[in-house]
Amino acid sequence: MSEQTRFTLSQADLPKFWYNVNADNPVPPAPVLHPGTLEPVTPDFLSVLFPMELILQEISTERYIEIPEEVREIYKLWRPTPLIRAARLEKALDTPAHIYFKYEGSSPVGSHKPNTAVAQAFYNKISGTHAMTTETGAGQWGTSLAMACNYFGLDLEVYMVKVSYHQKPYRRIFMETFGAKVYASPTPHTQYGRSLLEKDPENAGSLGIAISEAVEAAATSGGKKKYGLGSVLNHVLLHQTVIGEEALKQMDLAGEYPDVVIGCVGGGSNFAGLAFPFLRENLKHGQRTRLLAVEPTATPSLTRGVYTFDYGDTAQMAPIVKMHTLGHTFMPPGIHAGGLRYHGMAPTISALYDAGLIEAVAVKQRATFEAAVQFTRAEGILPAPESAHAVRAAIDEALDAKVKGEKRVILFNLSGHGHFDMLAYEKYLHNGLEDYEYPAEAVQEAMQHLPQVPLPA
Ligand SMILES: *Cc1c(COP(=O)(O)O)cnc(C)c1O
Repeated sequence: MSEQTRFTLSQADLPKFWYNVNADNPVPPAPVLHPGTLEPVTPDFLSVLFPMELILQEISTERYIEIPEEVREIYKLWRPTPLIRAARLEKALDTPAHIYFKYEGSSPVGSHKPNTAVAQAFYNKISGTHAMTTETGAGQWGTSLAMACNYFGLDLEVYMVKVSYHQKPYRRIFMETFGAKVYASPTPHTQYGRSLLEKDPENAGSLGIAISEAVEAAATSGGKKKYGLGSVLNHVLLHQTVIGEEALKQMDLAGEYPDVVIGCVGGGSNFAGLAFPFLRENLKHGQRTRLLAVEPTATPSLTRGVYTFDYGDTAQMAPIVKMHTLGHTFMPPGIHAGGLRYHGMAPTISALYDAGLIEAVAVKQRATFEAAVQFTRAEGILPAPESAHAVRAAIDEALDAKVKGEKRVILFNLSGHGHFDMLAYEKYLHNGLEDYEYPAEAVQEAMQHLPQVPLPA
């Protein structure tokens, strides 16, 4: 037991700046379009939903943006997070590869999402917002924003997908413990929700519907309420870069540099958070790290989607962005990684993928849980079903290195723990879990409903 396996930073090493990849990005993402006019949005349109500081971050090309002291004070509750060498997993795989993971599940709510939730609540607070609205699927994002709003004295309304509201009561109760109001979406509280319930009182909801309700609640509040989104947007990816900035220092402590950096992708924020600082090193300092995004075969927006303009939500109220999409009307299969079921992808990640600056792979549900169980047995940490996708890809890289006899250095983001996802593990362990293939026909159907954006002159 001589080799060190845990690389920790002191609170004094907590990053002071977020890294904005759009300062160095050779392929800036396309402009964001208004869902009604299909013209580029004005800051005025966005200011109905977001405070001005976040809008400025959304469009900024400044390389480093200072993290406010009030945000760093709250980050200190759990940051810097540990970097761990998965030595027992390496041994179990009998691989010459070195496997490291950044453990974001060590936050109070168990995922990376508070990194942006705290920042969003702070900027809303200082710009006079009274309350925030948001959607949540399984509850990771809702819990994170509930914690953040609690710290800054903001009220929070969470539109929680109805089927999760009933099937996953513990995250709802966690949100309520922080003082949030949680509604089962579709609700009778919004016009869109009422219109859906009139057609079908038993509507079980979806993430797209919940986003539409949360957006409507903010847009019709006369400026009192603003909306918070947990992924996809540039300012969200920006806030997550504390992960990669810390990891760079920690890899240095370990005396190694990663050949490949891996993260699962739903909207893309935890992957971006870890990978973008390494992309900077690739673009500016001649490093050649591969950056690998991992998605489920059930919702393969990068590997099988179309790179085009599409709505961010089901009701076509959210802005239109250019991204890899399965179509905003696509209804994803009920895989257990709820956080990876989004139809689209962050526009910045889509642009980088299109340009070949990052890679992507899709993995199947059963193989993903198999990797998660193997990881748990070796390292003792039970991954969130979302994070398990990154674990699968990391193990595949390590096995490939073994075949090729390479000492590959692998770094992946363990974006969350799975303590609220035990039913998914029960299914895997006892009842068998289904695999879902790329739903070609459903995607083809959804492609009929893309917005008809005129090509730029
Ligand atoms: C929400 C979530 C994800 C997916 O969202 P990204 O924005 O792609 O990171 C991944 N892992 C965990 C633990 C999550 O809660």
